[in-house]
Amino acid sequence: MTQPRIGGPPSLKRTSLQVLQDAVPFGVLHPDKPRHFRDMVRVTVNNAGKLKYAWDILNHGVCDGCSLGPYGLKDNVIPGTHLCTTRLNLLSVNTADGFTEDTVKDVAALRAMSNEELQNLGRIPFPLLRRRGEPGFKRVSWDDALALAGGVLKQTDPERVAWFITSRGITNETYYAFQKAARLFGSRHIDICARLCHAASVFGLADTLGVGAPTCSLKDLIGGDLVVLWGTNLANNQPVSMKYLHYAKQAGTRIIVVNPHMEPGLLRYWVPSVPQSALFGTQLADDFFPVAIGGDIAFMNGVMKVLLEKDALHKDFVSQHTSGLEDARALLNAMTWEDLERDAGLPRAEFERFAGIYAQAQSCVFVYSMGLTQHRFGVENVRSLATLALMRGNVGKEKTGILPIRGHSGVQGGSECGVDPAKFCSGEKITEESAAKWSAWWGKKIPSTAGMALPDQVEAIARGEMDVLYHCGGNLLETMPDHAFIKETLQKPKLRIHQDVVLNTSTLLDADVVLVLPAMTRYEQPGGGTSTNTERRIRFSPEIPGPRIAEAWPEWKIPVELVKRAMPDGEKFFPWKDTQDIRDEMEKYVTLYKGIGGIRKEGDWVQWGGERLFADWKFDRFPDGKARLLVQALPHSPIPEGAFKLTTRRGKQFNSMLSGTTDPLHGNARRNTVLMAAQDATRLSLHEGDAVMLRSPTGELVCTVRLARCKPGTLQVYWPEGNVLLPRVVDPISQEPDYNTHVVVEPVKG
Ligand code: SF4
Repeated sequence: MTQPRIGGPPSLKRTSLQVLQDAVPFGVLHPDKPRHFRDMVRVTVNNAGKLKYAWDILNHGVCDGCSLGPYGLKDNVIPGTHLCTTRLNLLSVNTADGFTEDTVKDVAALRAMSNEELQNLGRIPFPLLRRRGEPGFKRVSWDDALALAGGVLKQTDPERVAWFITSRGITNETYYAFQKAARLFGSRHIDICARLCHAASVFGLADTLGVGAPTCSLKDLIGGDLVVLWGTNLANNQPVSMKYLHYAKQAGTRIIVVNPHMEPGLLRYWVPSVPQSALFGTQLADDFFPVAIGGDIAFMNGVMKVLLEKDALHKDFVSQHTSGLEDARALLNAMTWEDLERDAGLPRAEFERFAGIYAQAQSCVFVYSMGLTQHRFGVENVRSLATLALMRGNVGKEKTGILPIRGHSGVQGGSECGVDPAKFCSGEKITEESAAKWSAWWGKKIPSTAGMALPDQVEAIARGEMDVLYHCGGNLLETMPDHAFIKETLQKPKLRIHQDVVLNTSTLLDADVVLVLPAMTRYEQPGGGTSTNTERRIRFSPEIPGPRIAEAWPEWKIPVELVKRAMPDGEKFFPWKDTQDIRDEMEKYVTLYKGIGGIRKEGDWVQWGGERLFADWKFDRFPDGKARLLVQALPHSPIPEGAFKLTTRRGKQFNSMLSGTTDPLHGNARRNTVLMAAQDATRLSLHEGDAVMLRSPTGELVCTVRLARCKPGTLQVYWPEGNVLLPRVVDPISQEPDYNTHVVVEPVKG
């Protein structure tokens, strides 16, 4: 493998055991190797009866897995096949048959099942109704279901309705229809699952750059001097990006990982479609900086301090295209190395080593995800990262940028298409003026003040201030912190609607009335639909001919038909026959999505903002046209003596749709595993395989110890299982929940 162009030889050395393991083909001696080929065979067997349909989905559809968003088996980054096992696993959901009415007659039995087992029951075949106290669901007609829900909505103050949508393959047309239906009904409390993953990015990037979106394209990952993976585990969450990184390594790009845990998949990965990599794997990370959980701001501040001391800023860029340098300098000067080292959990020499490599790089892409955003200070984390990028001019040019990589297909488009309690489409703030404009366009007065984001919606439900929860996809029971609280809360509404393709654990909870409405997948939707990937590329995913769930409806149509029944004159506001009509309306009103009306067939796409935002280094959302350097105060979060900092990880979990029972990138660890540094285990006289009780201020969880390359003093548990430990803490700016806490560890005897 080519040596990195900058920064000298990699600092991550392989042990003799690793050298031996690497020498054996297909990584058979590696405990942390995914078994791609075995998984492919399993998926083929699972889809045996519908191979043609499954193949057509793969070959023509836009992937409904993560946010890379290929078209068929290709993408715009590299030649060759774009496919991963996440997508293959999702095929089972996409091609499943509907279950029978008998399947849902006993909710108590269903509650004993895991999410995966519920999915394996098959697709939701027809509308289902269950009232509090009834043993199971009953089949109802669409007319009866809509009449019931529409009747409840008609009697309900729109202020007491919470609207939540997720990104389970949902298309932009549905997002647009969902928020339009909610707003015309008179509601303000409209939110999307992005609140849980990248809400902090939208705020943090808008504060520094003026636009809350990824600045570069995926192809910028290949061929530059440096890629820094910050609080992200691409190997699990965006698997094909490992192929991009394989080519980046071949092109001499240096890869740095900054994380509290050295993810094995980022160290070495076997790219199945690259023969040499499939056989012997690709060594990816060159350097690892084990930052403390919540210590990123301290680390970034220290690196900036070194850059300033060494006069290593991109002087022309900083002086001409940014503001705030003198404030930044003063703040950094006031920070002591003692505080920075303590909070980052790293010695000063490591700050200097990172700064030395970074200063050598003429181009750098920062890739980050929930390791930065899911904190009480998530927005501050993102502002810091953007400031660090700006100090070296790493935006706008080829092979540079800030890439808050999204985990879910199409979620990038959700708030851009108006699913946001504080913004209309295109990120336009809700004001009297903007609301008046949208009211005129849509022909009805809509609310002109911001509504509640998801965490506040949930608190309002808990206080009895909400009567209806419309839950389009997703599984709040599994994804929100404080499991016991959320479980109790979701049972309070008079009416809880689940629009979905399969059952999940939230669907089974009580409410006065639970209505389950069957939706089509994106591949079944007549007229196809569009999906926006993590690089702002809006792509057409066509309708794929094949078997259908007879009573499933297009996703966009369900909220529309429901609201029509709740409004006396509802019919006239939704003059759409199909998704093209919706795209045509979006073409008129969604300024960011100019060109969407012309996206009509497979292969069509537009990328809003072009390949790179700020290509001219003009930050024109700010009056002075300059980006802002925003150095952040240290968010010191001390923990009790003897406690561990704990964070949650995804492992073989992929959004709330896929939850494998083991993590193949981590020695097939089971989901009740806690990852722990060997020196912590020794200190506590624990061994691999020992059972321990983790106690947080919120809950407790029994786990099995697995030794891992965690930063000493920190632990990792799998999400969603670990959510029982998490308190309800949110970032006050973005309302993104904090998925970290502290715990004490006690051995479990016997
Ligand atoms: S990497 Fe993501 S977009 Fe690509 S095939 Fe896998 S799940 Fe789909």
